[in-house]
Amino acid sequence: MGQIIDGKAISAAIKDEVRDKIAQTGDRYGRKPCLCVIIVGENPASQVYVRNKVKAAEYVGMTSLKIALPEDTSEAELLGRIRELNADPGVDGILVQLPLPRHINEEKVIDTISQAKDVDGFHILNVGSLWTGKRCIQPCTPKGILHLIRSTGIDIQGKRAVVVGRSNIVGKPVAKLLLDANATVTIAHSRTPDLAEVTRQADILVVAVGRERMVRGEMIKPGAVVIDVGMNRDAEGKLCGDVDFDSAEKVAGWITPVPGGVGPMTIAMLMQNTLECFFAHNE
Ligand code: NDP
Repeated sequence: MGQIIDGKAISAAIKDEVRDKIAQTGDRYGRKPCLCVIIVGENPASQVYVRNKVKAAEYVGMTSLKIALPEDTSEAELLGRIRELNADPGVDGILVQLPLPRHINEEKVIDTISQAKDVDGFHILNVGSLWTGKRCIQPCTPKGILHLIRSTGIDIQGKRAVVVGRSNIVGKPVAKLLLDANATVTIAHSRTPDLAEVTRQADILVVAVGRERMVRGEMIKPGAVVIDVGMNRDAEGKLCGDVDFDSAEKVAGWITPVPGGVGPMTIAMLMQNTLECFFAHNE
């Protein structure tokens, strides 16, 4: 039976660390770190994510600003708000909750956020810095995944890592972070023939596909570290991952549950990134 990687507990410890650092910083800079979250429209899942981010910011002792804009907000208006926040010395982190309404170009919005306040790590300059090995703000979910893998105590160096999924927000950056940790990395995707043959070679398997319980126990190498990024609703409306937990935990050495695995880590990393931006602004 695989050991459970308890993302909830690990993320709680990280949030407490951030909280302690903020408390210790006290009034040294005359203000607390400030995270601004912008949400456009009424997407119910986005509302929940934003609420959780704001709650976490309050928990760690940051100032949190939530800007809720109506669905029909124009792109120009949104870009204008972002530019104002970029210029505001009291704001350390700016996050625009995705997805945005279809009439707004997400790429343009992300790249309008100042690179130094891009706490999601999605800005083209942060992405470019990540891929060229320069100092950057790392994207929250991939950064959280590396924390979870490290929490097992395994040495990533020299391990075979397989990432299933190649999105810009999860698959590709997590592959780069694993590469930086000296794993031998394979990225699989929807055109990969015989996926099971590839995943069975993985000492570290990260699955970020968005397909309910797609990776089953027989696709996993015995003893592997399995990180399930997926957040799907099954036919009964139950939250489930991309990995079939019941069959996978019998084979894996370590495995993340859904919920309680990667999800809470994303928010903890957002807190860490915002704190890093705050210190960088005050350097
Ligand atoms: P995307 O839809 O952007 O990417 C999915 C990737 O999976 C694509 O690269 C696609 O391949 C690949 N894929 C699709 N079907 C298959 C298949 N049958 N076999 C192999 N690969 C396949 O998703 P995201 O990366 O944005 O998200 C993935 C999952 O992670 C979702 O469930 C999402 O909700 C969740 N998520 C969770 C977060 C968290 O904080 N816990 C944060 C972000 C995402 P191709 O490129 O060839 O189309």
